[in-house]
Amino acid sequence: MDTLISNVTIVTMNERMDVLFGGHVGITDGKIVHIAKVPPKEAPAEIIDGTGMVLMPGLINCHTHLATAALRSLCDELSITEALEQQLKKEARMDSRIAKAAATIAAAECLRFGVTSVSDLYYYPAATAEVIADSGMKANLALSSYRFIDAVEEFDFHKDEQCQELKRVAEKWHGHDNGRIKIDAGIWAEYTSNHKLWEGLAAYAGENGLGFQLHLSQTQDEAESCEDRTGLTQTELLSCHKVLTVPVTAAGCNCLTDMDRKILGKHHASAVVTPLADAKQGRPCASIPDCVKAGMNVALGTDGALEAGNLDLFEVMRAAAMSVRAAKNDPAALSASAALMMATVCGARAQGRAAECGMIKEGMDADLILVDFSAPHLMPCHNVTNALVFSAKGGDVAMTMVRGKKLYVNGHFPTLDLNNAVRELMEYAMPKLFEEPKE
Ligand SMILES: [Zn+2]
Repeated sequence: MDTLISNVTIVTMNERMDVLFGGHVGITDGKIVHIAKVPPKEAPAEIIDGTGMVLMPGLINCHTHLATAALRSLCDELSITEALEQQLKKEARMDSRIAKAAATIAAAECLRFGVTSVSDLYYYPAATAEVIADSGMKANLALSSYRFIDAVEEFDFHKDEQCQELKRVAEKWHGHDNGRIKIDAGIWAEYTSNHKLWEGLAAYAGENGLGFQLHLSQTQDEAESCEDRTGLTQTELLSCHKVLTVPVTAAGCNCLTDMDRKILGKHHASAVVTPLADAKQGRPCASIPDCVKAGMNVALGTDGALEAGNLDLFEVMRAAAMSVRAAKNDPAALSASAALMMATVCGARAQGRAAECGMIKEGMDADLILVDFSAPHLMPCHNVTNALVFSAKGGDVAMTMVRGKKLYVNGHFPTLDLNNAVRELMEYAMPKLFEEPKE
């Protein structure tokens, strides 16, 4: 046995939602091999003392844009349209070196807050893949493709620059390190693309076993604009053009109709709700109970650091539960266990990783976090699942491991060169993004 985490409170997130107090979890070759109240007979190479800690599956952030960390806090008071304009101006100056530095900072933030796997929808997926490969964390990386809505005639998947970039990235990175990295197809949104692109990407994703990431119906304006233009809702339109034939991860889902949810549920699509980014940007929040009732898998996302301010999924869990309780005027409308499930089990399902992570179970990857329960805001603890959702914060995470390898321990990031990333961000990225060129 390589590692034993001993004397720890274990929140398994298994089918029975078992919680073990004073338990022991053993890890061999990156897999969980022992979960019990008693330690294993075999002596481990390393013991991690879990006294005063809670061990749980690593959180899965199913919607972010890692590289927008370079633009954090830039347009926090602007409307969605104004913010997007600002973002596009800065993104025009971005390059893969900036994306790499920003994605490194964001990956460190994820690990620091107990996130072991992310779904990322952005540009420069090759640069982000390099960061993820080095970091040791898991990721589903999608290239956010776009086309002008009326540029339909010219499209050819084999000549389109972004489609060819996706193909190159998928050939190099899809399945990297036994599936630690997966590549997905993606579009930013319905309103930034057209049906030929959707059909081309869906066909490529279907042939190559990729998922499909997008933003869907985040605002009433985009939903209404699509209906005015086409007579169909965005979901109906995308469904007509084969997008739902592959596993879809749809971020937002704030302005869906009952029929949209029914269609998405029938196709086992995942809704990724982003309640904090929505609230920050003045958007309505998705109706989690309606999505669940329609058969959708509901996972959680922070959105990017630009959109959300930070990548703390603990805050998102809390906000998701609170938003449903407030909307339903019912403190039992969404339990803490359900919020934890969305951040773990349902996240793994959205990423096509349900068999490998999201629970503490023998045979699964040791994607685990230790949450330090010795802080004043976690004392006393009458109910550990309630405390994880309503009292804990990302900053309480003391250790994050993926496949049994420690990636964050008490302020240290053994796999990331954070100093270099900060230097790159300050000395290269900031001047390139923000300084006006000299005459
Ligand atoms: Zn987003």
